[in-house]
Amino acid sequence: MVRELTHFIGGQHVPGTSGRFGDVYDPNIGQVQARVPLASRAEVEAVIANAEAAQPAWAATNPQRRARVLMKFLTLVNDEIDSLAALLSSEHGKTIADAKGDIQRGLEVIEFAVGIPHLLKGEYTESAGTGIDVYSMRQPLGVVAGITPFNFPAMIPLWKAGPALATGNAFVLKPSERDPSVPMRLAELFLEAGLPAGVFNVVNGDKEAVDTILHDPRIKAVGFVGSTPIAQYIYETATANGKRAQCFGGAKNHAIVMPDADLDDVADQLIGAGYGSAGERCMAISVAVPVGEETADRLVEKLTERVHKLNVGRSDDPGADYGPLVGLDGVDRVQKYVQQGIDEGAELVVDGRGLTVDGAEDGYFVGATLFDRVGKEMSIYKEEIFGPVLTVVRAADYEEGLRLANDHEYGNGVAIFTRDGDTARDFAARVQVGMVGINVPIPVPIAYYTFGGWKRSGFGDLNQHGPDSIRFYTKTKTVTQRWPAGLKESNSFVIPTME
Ligand code: NAD
Repeated sequence: MVRELTHFIGGQHVPGTSGRFGDVYDPNIGQVQARVPLASRAEVEAVIANAEAAQPAWAATNPQRRARVLMKFLTLVNDEIDSLAALLSSEHGKTIADAKGDIQRGLEVIEFAVGIPHLLKGEYTESAGTGIDVYSMRQPLGVVAGITPFNFPAMIPLWKAGPALATGNAFVLKPSERDPSVPMRLAELFLEAGLPAGVFNVVNGDKEAVDTILHDPRIKAVGFVGSTPIAQYIYETATANGKRAQCFGGAKNHAIVMPDADLDDVADQLIGAGYGSAGERCMAISVAVPVGEETADRLVEKLTERVHKLNVGRSDDPGADYGPLVGLDGVDRVQKYVQQGIDEGAELVVDGRGLTVDGAEDGYFVGATLFDRVGKEMSIYKEEIFGPVLTVVRAADYEEGLRLANDHEYGNGVAIFTRDGDTARDFAARVQVGMVGINVPIPVPIAYYTFGGWKRSGFGDLNQHGPDSIRFYTKTKTVTQRWPAGLKESNSFVIPTME
């Protein structure tokens, strides 16, 4: 039976009225399992009005009480993490263990946001001048919006919502239309945890919903995660309309493998980082850069052995290393890139095309694919494939490996594998990428640091989660006060100084 989804507005499920719907698939079997309403402009405007009405009372709730709501939410989500992970997996196609990780990494940012009474503390200077004290405070923006991608349907909405709600904003989430059911359940759990109705809303939709958000003056900030062309469009449109924006885009993450690294360990790590979640991660390693021909030959041999042993299966198969891609368009895109790689002269070591899984013959599966001797002019190197394809680009020396990462248009994540501290330290200092792993293949920073890529992987000044997220979702106000009021006469024609 095909389920009919709704929006979640003002604490209630609201059916769509636009007459437009998107299909939500079960990628394991290639069949539609739900229909999601795609909101019209009028529907989105009604959501924003609802959020605007709810926001002042929430902002006036003291930070400790807001934190208690988030604490209760943590308990509620943890209590049903198994069923949430199964739901997430059935729409996205990542394994259930990986789906739990998706939820868990989101909850870690809620845990961070529980510290809001401390995080919101301002600055204070006593007697900055005679009888004059100065202090600063952080105040919420009002109504803010999150526009999120399909590949982390729990984590990224929570990365946005946690700090936005903790700081006293109302939040409008426009999740991916490909896997919207988990965000909807999270909205119900926020309400159950004590969040007032209207403070967290989910409006499902596509470009029409997004464009309404981008043009509505009541939305004060937009947090986006998705592909680079859309990230750039949203950044430019939101800022042109006077909003704050932080927009995170695509990636091509390199792993530089030095000759002194433990290659068995590196190969194990690259297999997980390259093929986990079918490569549908913005922090996936998609380019391995072994330094020196001997390192390259040995690494490719070890990778090849491991790729052949990978088990691709249904996302609810506990033995599967990874499951299907989210959609048939993803399968087509990956297969097109593999053909392009062959045509452009790369060496196809393992071809994952044409894989079928017993009992799930119509699922969106692509086998693990490995290319060697990839050149930097090739499209499979320059562009984000977002599938289970690992490319090996051989570098003559460390400087060439570093240059590859630095010259690439994307700068989300990068890793180096070495036992040499000097090399690692030099790499961390000179690489032009936002998140760096030293013997760590997927360096997603912990919640109380910040997450964000450089170059065309990120648009905007402030990163996600960590201290930047508190800054992003608040305005700073600085107060200069004089008590008693008449302590010192000032000459009103001269700029005040602290003399
Ligand atoms: P996407 O850009 O297609 O969609 C992201 C969001 O934008 C969705 O909510 C979608 O409905 C909306 N959208 C799509 N087209 C639009 C348009 N023309 N106008 C307005 N809104 C539009 O991305 P996706 O396929 O859902 O996610 C995969 C991409 O996200 C990859 O490129 C991946 O690297 C990137 N990603 C980046 C990060 C990061 O932190 N840098 C994290 C996860 C995913």
